[in-house]
Amino acid sequence: MTTDVQPDAIDPYSLDHEGVAALVAEFGEPSYRADQLWSWLVRGVDDPAEMTNLPKALRAQLEERFAPSRPELIAHSVADDGHTHKLLLRFADGEAIETVLMLYPRRATVCISTQAGCAMGCPFCATGQAGFRRQLTAGEVVRQVVVADAALRSGAIGDEDLPDDAPDHVTNVVYMGMGEPLANVPATIQSVAWLHDPEGFNLSARSITVSTVGLVPGIQKLQELGLPVTLAVSLHAATDELRDHLVPINRTHPLRELEAAVRDYRDATNRRVSIEWCLIGDVNDDDRQADELGRIARRWRSHVNVIPMNPTPGVQWREPTAEQLKRFVARVRERGAEVTVRDTRGRDADAACGQLLASYALGAGSRLPAAVAAADRVDALREGTEPRS
Ligand code: SAH
Ligand code: SF4
Repeated sequence: MTTDVQPDAIDPYSLDHEGVAALVAEFGEPSYRADQLWSWLVRGVDDPAEMTNLPKALRAQLEERFAPSRPELIAHSVADDGHTHKLLLRFADGEAIETVLMLYPRRATVCISTQAGCAMGCPFCATGQAGFRRQLTAGEVVRQVVVADAALRSGAIGDEDLPDDAPDHVTNVVYMGMGEPLANVPATIQSVAWLHDPEGFNLSARSITVSTVGLVPGIQKLQELGLPVTLAVSLHAATDELRDHLVPINRTHPLRELEAAVRDYRDATNRRVSIEWCLIGDVNDDDRQADELGRIARRWRSHVNVIPMNPTPGVQWREPTAEQLKRFVARVRERGAEVTVRDTRGRDADAACGQLLASYALGAGSRLPAAVAAADRVDALREGTEPRS
């Protein structure tokens, strides 16, 4: 479905405080109206009809400009006894992305997307299989958080009540949905700034985690923002030999270069960088990888989060057995690294982070040729044979 976007349409979540002031001034309204509009937007209200303290004429004008950017909730699946909600949001041009809300007793974490699809081609990742569709704008990134926040404030998403023990606002944001945040630096940086703005959404930088496969120039850009945002590196392989295939961007930014960027980031922000490791049975769970990972984690002073691979349509690999998982974790720990096995929220609803949109995008069975080739190279490496051409 494609809808023509009106040329004068405005996404209110692409504006900072000054942008909102400029918009209100355009309508010849006094500046205190900008503060009123801003505080509605920050609370997740973008429907001017609900902005009861604004004059009716202004509300009508705003609605005309805002309506086209409002995404449509086209699917909602619930898992973990109502504690995980996967939302499929579709924008006016027809592109759909996923946002996952994970509820804990004192925490509400939103996992957000930064791109429709992803160009990185990691062969174990559902998003990677589907390829790149387009960049999200900063407003579209922010929107995912405010949609979740508004739901928490109201206690429901659509007709679905949220559990009683759910917090009433978003406490954490993780850039771990579809896409590579540091392949969309402008939207990532602008959305982080919006979420952090002390006069706005006011989320502490520490509660924001940006996850990357290791785009070094992007890490440097994030560092220049000067906020102690938590950086998570999706490592998945601890030798260039394996990582070149499992995380293909490694061929452009190999481990040594990544390590230098991580150290700089850590020193500049005073924040420990965490390591994500998607554990795949018989692919990256051997002793050599465990030993190298342990060494890297020690050098980086990083905590390691191990995520057992979620089976994904079209990917031939499987999750590790309980024995493989236990052995791998124990061995990394023996090397002196801190390790946690991350819960895999939302498995029963296809809603785990990194699994986003799998059932939709892969419904047609299409896989990115580069991801298929990368998977073949990993298998060939493991078996000591040549990849199929
Ligand atoms: N592109 C960024 C941000 C997305 S995060 C990145 O890769 O870091 C997506 C997370 O989900 C990553 O840590 C990724 O490794 C993980 N993931 C991807 N596919 C997965 C799968 N099949 N099972 C479990 N985790 C997966
Ligand atoms: Fe993209 Fe991250 Fe998936 Fe790799 S793991 S394909 S970078 S979303």
